[in-house]
Amino acid sequence: MNRLFSKSSDLRISRRDLVRACGAATLALPGFMMLGSLQSCSSKSNDSESSGGTADRAARDQASATTGRKLGIALVGLGKYSEGELAPALQETKLCRLAGIVTGTPDKIGKWTHKYDIPEANVYNYKTFDRIADNKDIDIIYVVLPNSMHAEYVIRAAQAGKHVICEKPLANSPADCRRMMDACRKAGVKFSVGYRLHFEPHNREMMRLGQQQAMGPVKKIYAQNGQKEGYDTPWRFDKELAGGGPLPDVGIYCIQGAIYTKGQVPIAVSAKYHPKTDQKKFKEVEEGMDFTLYFSDGSVAECRTSYNDTYNLLRAETDKGWFELSPAYEYSGLKGKTSQGDMNIDNVNQQARQMDAFADCILNNKETTVPAEMGLRDVQLVEAIYRAADTGRKIPTQDVAQVVDSTATKAI
Ligand code: NAD
Repeated sequence: MNRLFSKSSDLRISRRDLVRACGAATLALPGFMMLGSLQSCSSKSNDSESSGGTADRAARDQASATTGRKLGIALVGLGKYSEGELAPALQETKLCRLAGIVTGTPDKIGKWTHKYDIPEANVYNYKTFDRIADNKDIDIIYVVLPNSMHAEYVIRAAQAGKHVICEKPLANSPADCRRMMDACRKAGVKFSVGYRLHFEPHNREMMRLGQQQAMGPVKKIYAQNGQKEGYDTPWRFDKELAGGGPLPDVGIYCIQGAIYTKGQVPIAVSAKYHPKTDQKKFKEVEEGMDFTLYFSDGSVAECRTSYNDTYNLLRAETDKGWFELSPAYEYSGLKGKTSQGDMNIDNVNQQARQMDAFADCILNNKETTVPAEMGLRDVQLVEAIYRAADTGRKIPTQDVAQVVDSTATKAI
């Protein structure tokens, strides 16, 4: 079977985004397309640009697939998530490894190069970053910076000819997401958003039960993610750097969870801010929010997020029963049960699976199940939720990117 047309029901993308990504030549294509066509379109643009760099990279990717060479990842931004999760996960990955670092803090260099055996030649700062283009040890750049900086570094990574993973939220505006997607498409590199839970078996079971309607159609979803956020990363309270408060940071998992459990993108949203109990801390961003996602069949997802309260739940209800995860979005210790009993699923290293899955896409020229378009979708929904809370109105969302991960019935 032609690989490009083998996954039509797994990952869907709207005609609007396909056209945006591929240009007017695709206008004659049918309304709902699979990502495979997007990829064929981006390969075409590579051919026409046909830069030596693109050909070199493709040859290197192919050689790595043949020789079993692990792809090299460079982490950009050595903060909490890189240090606490990604670097340790890269000690467990099978298809990729920690090969380089990009940091603006010289004090961190010795500790990282020593601990992870990283050669000096693979250490960059934000000024020397673009020289990474000449480094054949590095295949993938993983952007783990404050949200407002994602766009610049993804674009520079693409221009350096590297495949890119970018942390969530993809950017602080849909316009930035599109600039990033354009840069990656133009450079012919793969681009994924760091949505680890798509590779986590409890969450995949929620996708499977919901999308296969194992207990009948899902009528109601409860998605709640809140944490008491301290001041150790002050940028999270800075609107310009973070783009918002808990909504784009942890509330985005509620949006994700609701969509992959229902298997649909909401058609409208409504929202209400929580009252601020600390005016100083939450001067620029919301302290918490309740928001509702409305689906086309009349079902709803009631969501809640906060920087001042703790909750961690993804629950789906049908006429015949229910299934839920609590906690649902943590790095480990997830637990699932249904109205028929415990899920009994093992926890795994989510980040290791996520990065290996992306490396596999590069080595075998496959589509990622967490493409940048999915990051765009959620940034569009975040924007609509803020508009709903600001206006007190229900905001239609039919125009957001129609991307859904429907791969949960298959092995990862
Ligand atoms: P952090 O503050 O701990 O790390 C940010 C890094 O960026 C630091 O090393 C810091 O030195 C560097 N930096 C460069 N310029 C900066 C500036 N102007 N202001 C502040 N820091 C600057 O943050 P984090 O928790 O590691 O989050 C980084 C990214 O990772 C965010 O986009 C966040 O949403 C994402 N994240 C994702 C997950 C997940 O589960 N997928 C978890 C945590 C964080």
